[in-house]
Amino acid sequence: MKDRGLLLSAGFELAMPSNYIPWGGPGPEVKRRRRISAARKKIGGIAVKVAGREEGPVEKGPLWQNVLFSWLNKLAFPYVPAMDKSFWVDEKCNACSICANICPCGNIEMKTDRPAWLHHCEQCLACIQWCPQEAIQFGKKTPNYERYHHPEVKLKDVLAFTATNGIGKSGGD
Ligand code: SF4
Ligand code: SF4
Repeated sequence: MKDRGLLLSAGFELAMPSNYIPWGGPGPEVKRRRRISAARKKIGGIAVKVAGREEGPVEKGPLWQNVLFSWLNKLAFPYVPAMDKSFWVDEKCNACSICANICPCGNIEMKTDRPAWLHHCEQCLACIQWCPQEAIQFGKKTPNYERYHHPEVKLKDVLAFTATNGIGKSGGD
């Protein structure tokens, strides 16, 4: 934004259950519900501020997290696109193509009835979290980790969004 001469007028932090499955599952159900409910309450206040075009400080989370992750992100950023080399599919894959259709950056192509990752991944984890067969794995540990997506978000809505916005492969079946 700075490079483009823009200023961030405000920023808000919403802590949600983690979907970053390479680091583990989303945590216990009760903790997830607590987080979602706290976020829902906070969003109401944020919406009022945004509607009123209020300016304010940019929330950055706890200092330790900010320092650690800013540093980690800077180091890891150049390697992110090719991190999809750790994805693989197990025998449960039924070639439904949902992963290819849901990827927000068109990074998955169906080749000989199996998905292939094209190395411009953004590590959003939508493919692994939404595969209905739980056939996508990342590294060695994910066969034992629970899949997670927001309980109120439906597959058809995500697919409709990628299709409407011209992203993903074919917009879903
Ligand atoms: S979403 Fe899962 S089952 Fe469907 S093609 Fe992709 S890996 Fe296979
Ligand atoms: S859905 Fe997300 S994690 Fe999966 S390939 Fe696409 S960008 Fe990468």
